Amino acid sequence: MSAVSLTSREHQPRHDWRREEVLALFALPFTELLYRAGTVHRRHFDPAQVQVSTLLSVKTGGCPEDCAYCPQAQRYHTGVEAQKLMSTEAVLEKARQAKAAGASRFCMGAAWRSPKDRDIPKVAEMIAGVKALGLETCATLGMLSGEQATALKAAGLDYYNHNIDTAPDFYGEIIHTREFQDRLDTLSHVRDAGMKTCCGGIVGMGESREQRAGLLQALATLPAHPDSVPINRLVEVAGTPLGDRHTSAELDPFEFVRTIAVARILMPKSMVRLSAGRESMSDELQALCFAAGANSIFYGEKLLTTGNPDTERDMGLFARLGLVPMPVEVDADGHDHAGTVHASISAAPEAALA
Ligand code: SF4
Repeated sequence: MSAVSLTSREHQPRHDWRREEVLALFALPFTELLYRAGTVHRRHFDPAQVQVSTLLSVKTGGCPEDCAYCPQAQRYHTGVEAQKLMSTEAVLEKARQAKAAGASRFCMGAAWRSPKDRDIPKVAEMIAGVKALGLETCATLGMLSGEQATALKAAGLDYYNHNIDTAPDFYGEIIHTREFQDRLDTLSHVRDAGMKTCCGGIVGMGESREQRAGLLQALATLPAHPDSVPINRLVEVAGTPLGDRHTSAELDPFEFVRTIAVARILMPKSMVRLSAGRESMSDELQALCFAAGANSIFYGEKLLTTGNPDTERDMGLFARLGLVPMPVEVDADGHDHAGTVHASISAAPEAALA
């Protein structure tokens, strides 16, 4: 299929994207790709609005997994101090602060491979407490069984973040302690339990364009497009296997923008989130990402264990670009939509790259 003939098929969300179609989009002239992505974006969103999320974490470091990018893996020496799960009261205090600051959703992350069954009641207590404050709830805790997903949903969990990290055919280069299918299984449990999904991946890890296309294809061919699609640019942290390979620097910034644009076209109704790695992006690069259809960012504080541009810089950039935080729309059931302002608790794993 030629790149040009893709246009007529971009109107409705599809779940049958083929790798060569995705690659054809990547190969479009840059300005044409941005035009197409911008057109798709305008069909479903106000391009002047950007969803703003804040990320905190309830349990940092000490993770037994070996994700080559992650400073929270206990096997790497990155200076991240392992912390125990926060107390429910400490979490709720953070949630109250977030609510007072205008947040409507609170994301809780924990650096676990997967929660133990004995952890679930405590996390459920946090979720129920946050929910009782009138906030929407979001969590990232690693892999979940069907029973755990059901228990978290019953406690009031609205969203679950679980990234697929990278393309299926690059997965073994990055992670050895689990398989790609494990991620799909958890996403399936989350959907089956009735929760919304937040799912994306990381680029700049030395993958090829074909593999970047494979990551996006895998996301866009899930049974349901994720409600949020975080696209992370690798943050190279000393002590991790990817910390000194400079693969992130080798990723052409225009290729990163292309990745955002293709994500927007493939998943037209999802929130495409600029996530980890934004701190090192120039204002101009971020502006190109917004033009390419990114409409969600993490804001302020720190993005788990990596830095994030401070809020003043963000608000200054919004003002210069004429962007505004997406307003929260609350339906009759009290659930907010599109324009959610997230606020998360402390530092967690996947959340770090959510
Ligand atoms: S990304 Fe998540 S699962 Fe992987 S090492 Fe970090 S905390 Fe553990």
